[in-house]
Amino acid sequence: MFFASDNGLGASDKVMRAIVEANAGPRLGYGRDDATRQVEQRLSALFEREVGVYMVITGSAANGLALSTLTPPWGIVLCHDESHVMEDECCGPEFFTGGAKLVGIPGAGAKISAAALERTLKKLPRRVPHNAPAHALSITQSTEYGLTYSVDEVEALAGIAKAHDLAVHMDGARFANAVARLGCSPAEITWRAGVDVLSFGTTKGGGLACEAIVFFDPARGADMVRRRMRGGHLLSKHRFLAAQMDAFLDGGHWLELARHANAAASRLAAGLKAVPGVRVPFTPEANGVFPILPLHVEAALKAAGAVFYPWSDRSLPDGVTVGPDEVIVRLITSFATTNEDVDRFVATAAAAATK
Ligand SMILES: *Cc1c(COP(=O)(O)O)cnc(C)c1O
Repeated sequence: MFFASDNGLGASDKVMRAIVEANAGPRLGYGRDDATRQVEQRLSALFEREVGVYMVITGSAANGLALSTLTPPWGIVLCHDESHVMEDECCGPEFFTGGAKLVGIPGAGAKISAAALERTLKKLPRRVPHNAPAHALSITQSTEYGLTYSVDEVEALAGIAKAHDLAVHMDGARFANAVARLGCSPAEITWRAGVDVLSFGTTKGGGLACEAIVFFDPARGADMVRRRMRGGHLLSKHRFLAAQMDAFLDGGHWLELARHANAAASRLAAGLKAVPGVRVPFTPEANGVFPILPLHVEAALKAAGAVFYPWSDRSLPDGVTVGPDEVIVRLITSFATTNEDVDRFVATAAAAATK
């Protein structure tokens, strides 16, 4: 019953095989190999336009490097209060941008609403030269609470951003889960809706360690070859990044893996909703479930060997609170989660709740 994170599993068999196959023979380093060219073509085909592609090994590097192209060091990046760039990268975005400031926007489910974005922009002081100007908006798809932004929602946010001359970044560590759930095309939910740069993740979805920074206007990423090198994120044996991404995309493997993880989360949420005393404030739209559990149910699950973490209650829907005898936890499913694990978790919770 492993629900701690989607990085607690290895890579998918197909990705692992591709890495082993890429091991044979000499190839040019630093991304000068044919497999890297093929990945660039694949991503251009997937997004239905020519894109600029820069692969790195972590999502934090992808986010920080991507944002460094969108704001000067004296700019502001707007993002959710509890977004990964804000809370989980130890000031990586500030470091890569040379000091830009992140300003958090609250919102249920770690989603930024159009109204909240407007409110924040309206409040920002604009005195020259004292106040830092906003240069970019970063949104996470799917969010840190397992929700998605619909095409309309991305369009609305990007529309406001563009009206204020902000560039739009999408943190897609779990982009696959969002696309699988929304059933939209990757183009529709990104550049057609106004996204300028995407951090396209494979690691959480079944890669080993590979994330691509995708520029929908390749000219915007023109200096990324140097930024990535300078930042220490150009992998010399780059073939191993290309092999992962190629296998991940091949034959819709990425969406197949994401659909499996999403279905496991839905099954888990449906099961937990039926357990007395357990509340599921968000219906999962990706691969995370964030139930509020009575403390004795949490203890019984832990005692039965389930692995998961407590989560924050800062972005719950209005009116939903966690009581003194309760805890909100994060349950993450993956491409490797089995129905047996899900059902055992639910049955353990149900047995503890009704005892
Ligand atoms: C995991 C994650 C990342 C990337 O994390 P790394 O550990 O740096 O690979 C970025 N954004 C979100 C929302 C994540 O969950």
